[in-house]
Amino acid sequence: GPAVAVRDLHVSLDGVPILAGVDLTVAPGEWVTVIGPNGAGKSTLLRAVGGLLATPGAVSLFGTPSEALRRRDRARVVATVAQSPVVPPGMTVLDYVLLGRTPYIPPLGRESAADLAAAHDVLDRLDLTGFHDRELATLSGGERQRVFLARALAQGATLLLLDEPTSALDIGHQQEVLELVDQLRRAHGLTVLATMHDLSVAGEYADRMVLLADGRVVASGTPREVLTEQLLAEHYRASVRVVDG
Ligand code: ADP
Ligand code: MG
Ligand code: MG
Repeated sequence: GPAVAVRDLHVSLDGVPILAGVDLTVAPGEWVTVIGPNGAGKSTLLRAVGGLLATPGAVSLFGTPSEALRRRDRARVVATVAQSPVVPPGMTVLDYVLLGRTPYIPPLGRESAADLAAAHDVLDRLDLTGFHDRELATLSGGERQRVFLARALAQGATLLLLDEPTSALDIGHQQEVLELVDQLRRAHGLTVLATMHDLSVAGEYADRMVLLADGRVVASGTPREVLTEQLLAEHYRASVRVVDG
């Protein structure tokens, strides 16, 4: 079955309808990117898929209804990188990545050798060897983004939810981070559901795209099918530049 199945998802926040009947399927190993203008509901959709909002009957992950997943089970299935993750003051890179292991381990400082090995492994793979003792707050935007990914990967989940993983980065680093996610996806058979507002490189890294506007899916298909001038002109109010090729 699908990694993610969303059926007729309605979400209201403070009495305001935000998502108005969203359907979405992501196959295992697939990368689907949700695009859409600011306020379309992208983050809300990701939060719903990640289990941060109650979605009775509307969301299943790998065949299990979301509400049937207990916290630890969910942590083994899905890892989320929020749009602007909180950067805990004074925390080192290694401690932050170890937080990704908390579904498995007792509080920080009592982690097992296996948990430490897992954290070191992802830090190495993300080219962050030598950053272990750095304070998270002192890193550049690109380095920090890689640490956020490292924490999600350390969790060992098979589904990655990435909310605008490149929004803080210049275009070179956007490509670098997305390339890295793609390599990890292929190497480990991960499934990726991402959101992106900036479209300059988004199309290169998605198998499929979903265009969300005003809480509804208004188009879905290959990046080529969705990133058309007509659809973007219709749904992205502000000026949007799609880099060709
Ligand atoms: P996007 O990620 O596409 O920019 P969001 O999912 O963050 O969109 O927000 C969608 C809409 O929901 C916006 O209009 C936003 O103002 C509104 N919204 C988000 N969170 C809340 C909340 N907690 N209460 C009320 N409205 C909210
Ligand atoms: Mg937004
Ligand atoms: Mg958002």
